[in-house]
Amino acid sequence: MANDYDIVVIGAGVAGLNAAIAAARHGARTMIIDMLGAGGQVINVDCIDNFPGPAEGMSGFELGPMLQMQADEAGVEFALDTIATISRTETGFRIAGADLDLSAGAVIIAAGSVKRTLGIPGEAEFEGRGVSHCASCDGPLMRGRQVCIIGGGDSALDEALALVPHAARITVIHHGSRLTASAALQAKAQEAGNIEVRLNTVATAIRGEDGVSAVTVRDLSAGTESDIPCHGVFVYVGLAPNTAFLGSAVTLASDGRIVVDLDMQTSVPGIFAAGDIRSRSVAHLAASAGDGVTAAISAVRHLAAAGIGEPVKHHASAG
Ligand SMILES: Cc1cc2nc3c(=O)[nH]c(=O)nc-3n(C[C@H](O)[C@H](O)[C@H](O)COP(=O)(O)OP(=O)(O)OC[C@H]3O[C@@H](n4cnc5c(N)ncnc54)[C@H](O)[C@@H]3O)c2cc1C
Repeated sequence: MANDYDIVVIGAGVAGLNAAIAAARHGARTMIIDMLGAGGQVINVDCIDNFPGPAEGMSGFELGPMLQMQADEAGVEFALDTIATISRTETGFRIAGADLDLSAGAVIIAAGSVKRTLGIPGEAEFEGRGVSHCASCDGPLMRGRQVCIIGGGDSALDEALALVPHAARITVIHHGSRLTASAALQAKAQEAGNIEVRLNTVATAIRGEDGVSAVTVRDLSAGTESDIPCHGVFVYVGLAPNTAFLGSAVTLASDGRIVVDLDMQTSVPGIFAAGDIRSRSVAHLAASAGDGVTAAISAVRHLAAAGIGEPVKHHASAG
């Protein structure tokens, strides 16, 4: 029985979109599905200056639609749905969501990551009322105000820099003894003039009434607690892979990410993974794009070797 598609890609972030473009360009009938739309977690990022392309960089809301247009031109079909299960069939896989129920010869999982939460009092209560995960969305609301950023990696400093033109003062709260963000971002933060970094410090509660008025912090070196007055708290404390929907469909590493080989092949022949969701990903856009292309070419080769679906056009690199 013919499958609905040769390749179904789950997740339309940079990994999934690049996988879909490459798959379609190799002649595979390709469907990409996302629960939110195209672009992935970077969609609200103001300035991406480390993705190959224009030297001046671009925003996430330019990059997502640009890749979606390329996918469209390559013949990729796009659908909105949250995929809930992947199961085996005689000729490949069944991919089912709230609305869709499709079959495909191969699947590429590019479902990325979600932001971790702090799990401290006040965080859930003030979500959307001062607690945010998107500085470029909520930055203008913080004009002339004091804000806290929780986290010390690239995302935390990226977002602190997005707040620089809006907030009066930005306090970066980080539990470690040094920031883990790139040297380039740390230099920009230092130059900004309104960013202060508090190291060896953890947030223990977010306080307020109608909205946020302070973050309670513990200084791990001194063992003391104090309040930092602020109107906004932006949380960037790492990411968790979006693998919950997979159940035991593929083997996961101890960190919850999908185990793959160099071809982005998972433990199940015919299921590939790409981007942040795969084990040992360096969690960068350029690396995710590369993963997507590798996964697509591996999926095309898998289909050809297994004799599944229509014969696909071969690009030289697909061997
Ligand atoms: C604030 C921030 C700033 C960043 N800045 C940079 C930067 O400047 N440069 C850089 O290189 N990297 C940056 N990164 C990292 C970069 O965003 C990631 O490495 C990249 O987005 C990973 O792409 P991905 O396609 O693997 O996953 P994602 O971008 O996470 O995309 C996954 C997609 O899958 C969808 N999805 C998930 N589950 C399902 C499901 N069950 N069904 C259907 N769809 C599903 C999601 O809706 C999402 O659209 C930043 C990250 C953050 C959070």
